[in-house]
Amino acid sequence: MLLIIRKKACLIICAVLLLSTILYSARKILVYHNNTLLTVTTEEGTRKDYIKWVDFNVPYKALHHALILDVQSHETDTPISWIELLAYVSAKNGNNFKNFKEKQLDEVAEFLKSGKTIEELTKDMKYYDYYYQAYDTILSGFVGEYEIEVPDENGEGKHWERRYGLKVFSPIAKTFPYHHYDDFGNSRSYGFKRIHLGNDLMGQVGTPIVAVEGGVVEALGWNQYGGWRIGIRSLDSKRYYYYAHLRKNFPYRKDLEIGSIVKAGDVIGYLGRTGYSKTENVNNIQQPHLHFGMQLIFDESQKECNNEIWIDVYQIIRLLDKQRSEVVKDPETKDYSRVYDIRECQDLLFD
Ligand SMILES: [Zn+2]
Repeated sequence: MLLIIRKKACLIICAVLLLSTILYSARKILVYHNNTLLTVTTEEGTRKDYIKWVDFNVPYKALHHALILDVQSHETDTPISWIELLAYVSAKNGNNFKNFKEKQLDEVAEFLKSGKTIEELTKDMKYYDYYYQAYDTILSGFVGEYEIEVPDENGEGKHWERRYGLKVFSPIAKTFPYHHYDDFGNSRSYGFKRIHLGNDLMGQVGTPIVAVEGGVVEALGWNQYGGWRIGIRSLDSKRYYYYAHLRKNFPYRKDLEIGSIVKAGDVIGYLGRTGYSKTENVNNIQQPHLHFGMQLIFDESQKECNNEIWIDVYQIIRLLDKQRSEVVKDPETKDYSRVYDIRECQDLLFD
């Protein structure tokens, strides 16, 4: 269930760094814009702006509809970005989607189709840039052109097909049952008082877990809270995906190690109930589930300690439910692997 390891040492280092920043350099100025942007002016006079907090409130209905508008317009003269549409609506709604209607997105899309630019539409919107930056960081790896294997019509083989659309996957492999609800921010009882910074997907032990987005395996091993867990950083390094409570004795795909590169839709491990123990390989979670979390990193200083930004991924998981990776078990190794491979432009970098 939870993910942050608040090691004492980590806290002490953070406190010392913070204190020395304040005491040492009087010229360092911290400016808060509506509690969202942090501007640091360093001694050398260079400015560094980055977002320091994001409340991701966009509901499934808005994500889904914006995605449709993006995909439908892709091959037209006026391709529309779902990220721009969502940022526009959030800036307009003040991040409140209680009265959201799909037609709000349709209206912006119509303006853009008629030749207006997003800059014209948003020039008086104070927070458009903030939402655009935030949503671009969350969603920039989600949609694009890719090639995927699909079954031949006669059902005997498979072939590559070029597509544009959602290219990320549900963390739960195809046909394996799971259920979940929006549990972000709920309180947790194990250890110190803390809140839940992800989404728990309840399922059966051994369910193959799939990489949502491709990236580099940055963490793999035991931690007191997450049990056997995997952390994967997106290739643009802005997103960190956290998969925790993996299966006792056989938590990961056997060939995975720190530094391995995975693709979206690859099997990475297996659902379990490990965690809540300082001793490795212990099942202390009552209900088997995958804890899935997504951290945003606008600046490397936000990766650890008290500057972490975790977003509510519940609505995202709902969106990803349409895209589940089909897997097959190797009877000898007992490992699962994907049936239909995927290729992205990014992959060329690593060939
Ligand atoms: Zn959890």
